[in-house]
Amino acid sequence: KKTLTIGLIPADGIGKEVIPAARRVLEALPEGAPKFNFVHLDAGFELFQKTGVALPEETVERLRAECDGALFGAVSSPSHRVAGYSSPIVALRKKLDLYANVRPVASARGQKDGKPVDMLIIRENTECLYIKQERIETTPSGEKIAWADRRISEHASRRIGRMAFRMALARDALRQKTPEAERLWKGPPTVTIVHKSNVLSTTDGLFRETVRAVQGEDPAFEGVRVEEQLVDSMVYRMFREPHCFDVAVAPNLYGDIISDGAAALVGSLGLVPSANVGDTFVVGEPVHGSAPDIAGQGKANPVAAVRSAGLLLEHLGYTNEAARIYNAVDSVLVKGNLVTPDLGGNATTDQLTDAICRQL
Ligand code: NAD
Ligand code: MN
Repeated sequence: KKTLTIGLIPADGIGKEVIPAARRVLEALPEGAPKFNFVHLDAGFELFQKTGVALPEETVERLRAECDGALFGAVSSPSHRVAGYSSPIVALRKKLDLYANVRPVASARGQKDGKPVDMLIIRENTECLYIKQERIETTPSGEKIAWADRRISEHASRRIGRMAFRMALARDALRQKTPEAERLWKGPPTVTIVHKSNVLSTTDGLFRETVRAVQGEDPAFEGVRVEEQLVDSMVYRMFREPHCFDVAVAPNLYGDIISDGAAALVGSLGLVPSANVGDTFVVGEPVHGSAPDIAGQGKANPVAAVRSAGLLLEHLGYTNEAARIYNAVDSVLVKGNLVTPDLGGNATTDQLTDAICRQL
């Protein structure tokens, strides 16, 4: 396909600053890259305050009908309850069945400070404790007991498992194109299944067995090494020796916790991208929020959004273009003279974006 139609949903706060930056980087890709057609779409808390709607039907419809993929900025979700409001990104994940949250955590190639890390966390996005089946019971003596159901299905575990194997192979293919000396990960493509089936042998046991069984589905998966890590020791090892992981796959709750934890390894929230992935659609989204403390000042770090655009291209099959974006970002970060205040510099969003575009 020569032209890609990408929905842009900046939403709130610095989303309005970093999504245009990501757009500029996509447009700066050199000859040979696809042409881009951008569709501007509304969503967010600010929109809700103006119109009473956080995720307009038109946004969902146009994503489905016109777009190959999308980039989402960030939403402000107030901590207090606001009648009629619920997060548009959560709703979007449901409506488009984006069942995997894919989060690469990587230090810039050549970066000297901090621990070297280049891992990909794949979080199941639809079940586990987040089905929100909670209830309260009161004992005869008036004591309260709160309960929550946890759902782990073969179906959801299988599809997230497939995603993990596919991504491990895709990362390996991408690595083969970079010089050996620059690769952090030297081993074979590896999937680490994160669970706690020593205690939760039924639920986590099913997750573990189902993901393992995926390996037998496809001869290509035989080249993937499968490892396991109990979630508590996963946290410990991730902080001590993050370079020991390639792809980690986890049920929803564990995935939520380890992926936020892993983001701390690379220094700034402004660096970490994610993609919400389903079988028919993908939405790139920086991990950070709307950052009201710095919104409107032109100093937000655009790298998380730019890398999310790279992830989007990767999932649409444009791995060469994705690699170009990642490499350009790494070069600028390693030089370090044109970085935003969150990384200790004094460059603006636009200056850092310009530097990335020049590197392309
Ligand atoms: P936040 O991620 O917005 O900000 C946390 C801190 O990191 C702030 O100091 C901020 O300035 C800084 N930061 C974040 N992104 C940055 C960037 N690109 N460049 C430089 N600095 C950056 O988290 P928060 O402050 O806890 O939440 C603010 C709002 O965002 C809340 O309403 C929250 O609900 C929402 N939120 C949304 C998402 C999402 O859209 N997925 C995720 C987290 C928080
Ligand atoms: Mn989280």
